[in-house]
Amino acid sequence: MSWIYERKGLVNLLISLGLQAGLLPTTLSALEGTPADRPCMTADIRHDWSLESLRELYDTPLMELVFRAASVHRQFHDPAEMQVSKLISIKTGACPEDCSYCAQSSRYSTGVSPERLMEKEKVVEIANRAKQAGVSRVCLGAAWREVKDNAQFDRVLDMVRGVTDLGMEVCCTLGMLNEHQAKRLEEAGLYAYNHNVDSSAEFYETIITTRTYADRLKTLEEVRKTNVTLCSGGIIGLGETVDDRLKMLQTLSQIEPHPESVPINILSKVAGTPMADNPDVPVWDVIRMIATARIVLPRSDVRLTAGRVKLDDTAQALCFMAGANSIFSSETEFMLTKAVPSPSYDRDTELLKALGLRMREPFKHGRTHPAQETSCSVAG
Ligand code: SF4
Repeated sequence: MSWIYERKGLVNLLISLGLQAGLLPTTLSALEGTPADRPCMTADIRHDWSLESLRELYDTPLMELVFRAASVHRQFHDPAEMQVSKLISIKTGACPEDCSYCAQSSRYSTGVSPERLMEKEKVVEIANRAKQAGVSRVCLGAAWREVKDNAQFDRVLDMVRGVTDLGMEVCCTLGMLNEHQAKRLEEAGLYAYNHNVDSSAEFYETIITTRTYADRLKTLEEVRKTNVTLCSGGIIGLGETVDDRLKMLQTLSQIEPHPESVPINILSKVAGTPMADNPDVPVWDVIRMIATARIVLPRSDVRLTAGRVKLDDTAQALCFMAGANSIFSSETEFMLTKAVPSPSYDRDTELLKALGLRMREPFKHGRTHPAQETSCSVAG
């Protein structure tokens, strides 16, 4: 099924459904007040989801599922707000790992040219332009298997300090790390560390052989020993089953507190990788996944990430209604590399304006773990 849909008819239908269900504000004043000021609806912060209960939730009729997810979204978040991040590939390509979906693995011929670690000044310059475009968080990605205690890591720490000094949140995704390295990043001012679990444990070992799921979880544990917030999610469209997707959400829900940020990527098929010819993900699967993630991880930011560029405005709006409240945007119109396209700053500014959404300012939650806050008593 194609995920590109005719725009106008569906926009009208979407708005109509949203207004009927009370999900879309007719004016911004309808969104005034904090989430805690609004009526407290029922949602649990749970760490004990069974696969059966997740499947039941995921299979709920779509409009009902979106309504429930939107209700949870409004309980825990400002639904008029969108967190916007910018990715910078600070060290590109030549990665020794064999992640089957990745343009940067040295195992595949993807046309991505390796680039050395960037200079701090260049990173700060790009971050500054992102700030002018309204971006609140900069994510620094290095195609490494793991962090090593060397001059390159020292330079990354300098980058973290430099971008933090701009008043922006900084996230790093550098591969596996230990507690000491996580502490050094924390001391440099790091706001978030990204380390995706990608999929279920069982499926993971069919797409990556150079490290284990347990390695992945160990790094998440190391980051949780600091005050750096956690960003962890996965990818759909790898060839996994719906149960694999739900087991991934189950794994994330078992982390206490839940990761503050949960990226849901739609596979960007990269020529030269083993997944270049995977079938498209139906848009309804994307919306169901976002809505389920929103309900299962109510306080987390649910980030609609790679693959968003293939969704038209209506499909993106449905994802936002279903609880996605975070996106990546780009001045270069690609994510980390040219192999994975991204909507531009201008395009996203236009879309957010059309939907009456505003960009979240940096450090809205300070440096605490929002997942630990208890602004609304929840039950049932
Ligand atoms: S996803 Fe990360 S670890 Fe895996 S090959 Fe790509 S850059 Fe390397």
